[in-house]
Amino acid sequence: MKVMKFGGTSVGKPERMRQVSQLITADAESKIVVLSALSGTTNALVEIGNAISSSQREKAKELIDKLEAHYQSFIVELVKKPSSLAKAKAIVAEHFEFLTIILKISFSEALSKDILAQGELLSTKLFSVFLEENGIDHFLLPALEFMSIDSHDEPQINSIRNRLDMLLRQHSDKTLFITQGYICRNARGEVDNLKRGGSDYSASLIAAAITASVCEIWTDIDGMHNNDPRVVKKTVAIEQLSFEEAAELAYFGAKILHPASIWPAQFYKIPVRLLNTMQPEAKGTLITEEAGSEGVKAIAAKDGIIAINIRSSRMLLAYGFLRKIFEVFEKYRTPIDMITTSEVAVSITIESSAELKAIVRELEPFGTIEVEENHTIVSIVGNNLNSTPDILSKLFTALSPVPIRMVSYGGSKHNVSLLIPSAYKTQTLQLLNKGLFGLE
Ligand code: ADP
Ligand code: ASP
Ligand code: MG
Repeated sequence: MKVMKFGGTSVGKPERMRQVSQLITADAESKIVVLSALSGTTNALVEIGNAISSSQREKAKELIDKLEAHYQSFIVELVKKPSSLAKAKAIVAEHFEFLTIILKISFSEALSKDILAQGELLSTKLFSVFLEENGIDHFLLPALEFMSIDSHDEPQINSIRNRLDMLLRQHSDKTLFITQGYICRNARGEVDNLKRGGSDYSASLIAAAITASVCEIWTDIDGMHNNDPRVVKKTVAIEQLSFEEAAELAYFGAKILHPASIWPAQFYKIPVRLLNTMQPEAKGTLITEEAGSEGVKAIAAKDGIIAINIRSSRMLLAYGFLRKIFEVFEKYRTPIDMITTSEVAVSITIESSAELKAIVRELEPFGTIEVEENHTIVSIVGNNLNSTPDILSKLFTALSPVPIRMVSYGGSKHNVSLLIPSAYKTQTLQLLNKGLFGLE
C-alpha cells in the first residue's frame, strides 16, 4: 500500500482535483491519499480566527462570506450532475454554518483549532463527492479518528497504527482511501493540528504506521531544489537525498517539507518521493537511506531566529555551567538550534519565542545577557561535508560581504550552518548559489 499526499496548490482548483483523480487511479496499488486544504484556505481560516479572538466580529463575518463564495464557485466547476452539486452544496453549507455559529460563542484556543480544521475537512469531502460522481470507488477515512498527539504535541505512532489498522480492516473491500492531512486530536480529545504545513507530517506518519511501499509528496514544484526558489532565480531539482540530508533541509527552512516530516519515514525506512502534480513525468526527488552522491546538495534558510549571548568570565569554565544554561531552555520547552562557545561566552540561537523574556530573566544570574533578534540560519546541506575539500574556504570566500554572526561545523556530517542578520538573507543565498553551485 502506498501513501500519496497532495498539497494546497494540487487541490486548489477544480481542474487540479481532476488531475489528482487521474494520478491516484493510474496504478492498481492500494493507497491512502492525504489532502491539504485548498490553497489559501488555511491562511483565510487563521485570519478568521484572529478576527474572532480580537472581537472583530464584522470583519470575521466578511472573511467567512468571502471564503464561502470561493467554495460556491469552486463546486460549480468541480461537479456536473445536479445530485452531486446538491451534495457539495450541503457540505459547504454545513462547514460555513459551523463557522458562523462560532462567531456567536466565546472564543477559546480549542475553538481556534476547530476553525483551522475546516479546510482539510472541506477539501476531502468535496473531493470524495467528485470521485463518487466519476464512479471512483473509495472510502473517506476520518483523520480525527486515528491521528493523535500526546500532551507534548508528539504523535504517538503505535496508537495511530492500531486505530488506522482497525479502520482499514473494517473497509477491507476498498483499495482507495482519502483522508485529511494536518488535523488530529490532542491528549484532551480536542481537535488540534500538526502545525502549518503539517499535511506532509500526516502523510509520513501514515506511511510509517502502515509500512507503506512509498510516501509520495505531490506539490507544485519538481522536487527539492538546491536553493530556495522563492528567493533565488536559478535553482535546480535534486535527484536523490538521504533521510538525514532531507531532515536537515526541512528543519532549516526548505518549505517543501514540514520540519518534522522526515523522521517517521526514516525510522520505518519508507522511501519518500517529492513529485510535481503539474508535471507528473518529472523525476522529482527520491529520499532514502542512500545519499546518492558526495558533497554539497542544497541550501536552506530559516528566519525568525534570536541569538542569545551569555558572557561570564567567572563561571564559564566551571563544569556544570552549560547544564545550568540548558536547564533554562528545557524548563521553557524551547529548542536550541545553534550553539558556539568561547572561554568567556556562549552564544545560543532559538526561534522566536513567547518565552523569551522569561528565559532572559532566568539567564541573568549567569552573566551579561545580550539578545539579538531578526537573524536567519542558513544551512548548507550535503553528504560527508566534513570531508568535502575546500567547503569552508568556498563558503567564506563567497560570503566575504556578509557579516557572519555564528558558524556551526562538525556537529553533523550533513550540515554547515551560519547565522546572519536577516537583512542579508537574499544576498547570502544568491552568493552561495554562485559560489557553491555556479548558478546565477
Ligand atoms: P504544498 O502546498 O504542496 O504543501 P508548499 O508551498 O508547502 O506546497 O511547498 C512547496 C513550495 O516550497 C514550493 O512552491 C517552493 O516555493 C517552496 N520551497 C522552498 N524551498 C524549497 C526547496 N529547496 N525546494 C523546493 N521547493 C522549495
Ligand atoms: N493546510 C495546512 C496549512 O496550510 C496544512 C498543509 O497544507 O500542509 O498549513
Ligand atoms: Mg506544504
